[in-house]
Amino acid sequence: MKRKISILGSTGSIGTQALEVIEKLGDKLEIVALTGGHNTELLNKQIAEFKPKYAYADDKTAIKGAKYCSLDEICSNKENDIILVAVSGKIGLKPTITVINNGIDIALANKETLVMAGDIVMKLAKEKGVNIIPVDSEHCAIHQCIKDISQVEKLIITASGGPFLNKSLSDMKNATVEQALAHPRWNMGKKITIDSATLMNKGLEVIEAHHLFGMDYDKIDVVVHPQSIVHSAIEYVDGSVIAQLGLPSMHIPIQYAITYPERFEGIKSKSFSFSEIARLDFEKPDYEKFKALHIAYECGKLGGSFPVCMNASNEEAVFAFINGKIKLFDIINIVEKMLENHTYIKNPTIDEIFEIDKQTRIKTTELINRNFSFCNI
Ligand code: MG
Repeated sequence: MKRKISILGSTGSIGTQALEVIEKLGDKLEIVALTGGHNTELLNKQIAEFKPKYAYADDKTAIKGAKYCSLDEICSNKENDIILVAVSGKIGLKPTITVINNGIDIALANKETLVMAGDIVMKLAKEKGVNIIPVDSEHCAIHQCIKDISQVEKLIITASGGPFLNKSLSDMKNATVEQALAHPRWNMGKKITIDSATLMNKGLEVIEAHHLFGMDYDKIDVVVHPQSIVHSAIEYVDGSVIAQLGLPSMHIPIQYAITYPERFEGIKSKSFSFSEIARLDFEKPDYEKFKALHIAYECGKLGGSFPVCMNASNEEAVFAFINGKIKLFDIINIVEKMLENHTYIKNPTIDEIFEIDKQTRIKTTELINRNFSFCNI
């Protein structure tokens, strides 16, 4: 029987790669709905090719070839066996909660959902018996390694180190947008690529891993691994380490998540060869250069509303950097400033989370617009 799937954010980086996966899987999957934001030209092309019954776009009049449905209707539609949440940013949170409330399994590519509301989302998923299969390559790797979480001593998350791994601190401080966007290993959207340059992405992933696998922060390690072949690993209580390896392609974790627990050849382009790869390097992260990682650990440990503030201020600062308003290092300085002034809430509700997110963004933008430059070069 065909597995029925909807993709939230089909016109984005993960969404388009998911459609490439689905195309290769032939008759294994059937698309119920596709959703896009502004890019209705691409969405309509996808509708013509993949023929979903339903579609959503910001401008409903622009949709051609499928019936318009609201995001809520798509996320509540029980025709779905699984929904891939591939939108980026905070807009992923509400639809994810709707999907869980309707008992539909989730392939989760949206980090912010767990960073902002991991406690609420994981508790709800447990109550509703919903499986959340991670798409993020590191978490997908860990998901593949774990048989019994109670026997796991430690999670080991790998980080490629991004474009500034072998650059000096001052090179990083003077980085242009183009340099920061030139990720050596992964082809991703702009926001996540900048987060990978500061290693904030890895920090978000540590928080994500804490929630997904219920692991304490002091049992989650990050190791820099420039080749991006070992996607992450776990250490069992007896000292055995199980790692998941593969060529760095998002197609593989996407396919794993949407077809779990089955596996298919699908989009596999070539076979893995240890001898071709020849060597794998590992090193400790430089916490002076990649302060964001340290901040994320601290925010994760403090919990409550701190990760919400960190995520929102980081996202606004990243956009300001991409738009040439601030320097790369200002991103982290701005995040720190916002965290210093944050009024902590221990167990925020979803409404409070959105309010904190909103207020943090407003204050971050104000700070940026005051032309505050923290970065003394
Ligand atoms: Mg990742």
